[in-house]
Amino acid sequence: MAVLGHAVVMGGGVAGLLAAAALAEHSEKVALVDRDPMIVDGPETFAPRRGVPQGETVHRLLAVGETRMEQLLPGVREDLLAAGATPRATVSRDAEAGIDTPGTLWLHRPLLEGVLRQRVLALPGLETVQGAVGGLLTSEDGRTVTGVSIRGGETPELHADLVVDAAGRSSRAGSWMPGLGAERPRTLGTRVHVAYTCQRLRLPESALSAGLEAVSIPPSEAVPFTIDLEPCGSGEHLLAVAGTSRNVPPTDLPGLLDLIARLPASEDGAGTNSAVLRRAVEVAEPVGEPAAAKAAGAHRQLWESVVDAPEGLVHVGDAAAMFTPLYGQGMAMAAVGAVALRDHVAALGTADRAGAGAADGLAAPFQQALAELLDPAWESTLARDLSLPGAERLLDGAAVEELPDRRDLAPALSASR
Ligand SMILES: Cc1cc2nc3c(=O)[nH]c(=O)nc-3n(C[C@H](O)[C@H](O)[C@H](O)COP(=O)(O)OP(=O)(O)OC[C@H]3O[C@@H](n4cnc5c(N)ncnc54)[C@H](O)[C@@H]3O)c2cc1C
Repeated sequence: MAVLGHAVVMGGGVAGLLAAAALAEHSEKVALVDRDPMIVDGPETFAPRRGVPQGETVHRLLAVGETRMEQLLPGVREDLLAAGATPRATVSRDAEAGIDTPGTLWLHRPLLEGVLRQRVLALPGLETVQGAVGGLLTSEDGRTVTGVSIRGGETPELHADLVVDAAGRSSRAGSWMPGLGAERPRTLGTRVHVAYTCQRLRLPESALSAGLEAVSIPPSEAVPFTIDLEPCGSGEHLLAVAGTSRNVPPTDLPGLLDLIARLPASEDGAGTNSAVLRRAVEVAEPVGEPAAAKAAGAHRQLWESVVDAPEGLVHVGDAAAMFTPLYGQGMAMAAVGAVALRDHVAALGTADRAGAGAADGLAAPFQQALAELLDPAWESTLARDLSLPGAERLLDGAAVEELPDRRDLAPALSASR
C-alpha cells in the first residue's frame, strides 16, 4: 500500500522532477506544478524554457548526480545517450568517489530536463498542473500544510499529505513561514558575482585534434574569464565564458570572438590551449543566440533549524541550497536530496505511527538529514568562493566577517524567542 495519498511538488525543474520520481514510488498520486507547460512530445521537449533562465548556460552533471538519477530512474543514462548526450572519452573510475567527480556524459541542460520529464511523467500516478503556486493551505491550527493554492491555472487548489518545495531560487516558502507561526529560515551565503555567456556551436570534425574532447582556459590578467569549449550533446559544443568578482563577459557573439582573439598567444599550456580554441571557434558555426545568466553566489536556507516548522512541507534543490554555479554541484545535490526524500517517505511506511497524519514526522528529520548530506558540497563551495577576490560572506543576507557553522544557529534561534 502507498505510504502517502496525494503529494504535490511545486516546481518542475531538475529538483522537482527528481522529487516527483522519488514520491511516485510511495504515493497514490503526485501532482507536479509549474508555471511552464511540461512538454514531453516533439522538439519543444528539449528546448530552453522561461522558468529556468539559467537553462541555456553550461550545466555539468557530476558523477554522484548521475548515480542518484539512475537509482531513481533506472536506465536514464541510456535514455540520455539515446536523446543525444555525448559520452565522455575520459571517465573517472570511481563514480562515487566524491561530489566533485565529473560524470560520464556531456549534455545540455534542456536535453537533461527533457529526458527527465519524459521519464517522470510516464510514472504511474503522475499528473502535471500548469500555474503558479501562490501560497500554502494548512490545517486550522496552521501546524500542518495540507496543500497549495494556485494562480493562473485551471485548478485553484490542490490538497496533499505532503508538499515539496522545489521552486528553486525564487521559492517564496520562507516568506510564508510567519503566516504559519514559524520563523523564516536563517540563511548563509556568499556574494561572488558570477556571470556567464554561453554560445552553442557546431564544429567541423577537424576543428579539434583527434582525442581532444574539450578546451579549458583559466582566467588571466589580460582576459579575466574562464573559457571552456566542450561537447553538449546532439553533436554540438558549448562555448562557456564565465566571470567572477563583477567581471561580466560580453553577451554577444562578436564580443566573445573578440575576447578569444585577445587571449595571450603562447607562453604556457594555456597559451597553447588558446590557439586551439581560436582555431576551433574560427571554423565553428553558431547555433542560435548567446545565452547569458548571472548568479550572486551560494545561498543556503537552514530549514533544519526552523523552530515550529509545519508538518507536511519539505524543501529540496535550490530552494534548500543554491550552490555557486561554477562548480557544477546544484543538479547533483538535487538528486542526492531526492533519493533521501524517497528513503524518508519509505521509512514512514514501516514506522508505528498509529493516529498520525500521512506525512507527520517526516519534515524535520528529512530536513536534518538533507542538511548533513549537503554539508560537504556546501563546504567545498564556500572554500572555493572565499578564495575569489572580493568575495563576501553573508548571514541572513548581510555581509559578515565570519560565517557561523550552520549547526550553531539553531540554539541561537531558540534563545532569541
Ligand atoms: C548560471 C547557472 C549555471 C549553472 N550551472 C550548473 C552546472 O553546471 N551544474 C549543475 O549541477 N548545476 C548548475 N546550476 C544550478 C542548477 O541550475 C540548479 O541547481 C538545479 O537545476 C536545481 O534547481 P531546481 O530544480 O531546484 O530549481 P530551478 O531549476 O530553478 O527550477 C525551479 C522550477 O520551479 C518553477 N517555479 C518557481 N516558482 C514557482 C511557483 N511559485 N509555482 C510554480 N512553479 C514555480 C520554475 O518555473 C522552475 O521550473 C547552474 C545555475 C546557474 C544559475
